Amino acid sequence: MSDKLCSLVKKNVHEEDPKAYKKLISEPKYWCKKCGRAAAKSSSLCKSKKL
Ligand SMILES: [Zn+2]
Repeated sequence: MSDKLCSLVKKNVHEEDPKAYKKLISEPKYWCKKCGRAAAKSSSLCKSKKL
C-alpha cells in the first residue's frame, strides 16, 4: 500500500484516521503539482514541489 498523501486521501484517510492525516499535512513545506495538496514531506506527494 502506498503511503503517499495523494493516494491516502482517495482512501478517505482523513475520515478514517484524522490524526494521521493531520500529521501529514501539518506545517506543509511541499505541495503536489498534480493534485494540489500540501504536505510536510515531499515523499508524501506524487509530484512534490517546494512551497
Ligand atoms: Zn499528488
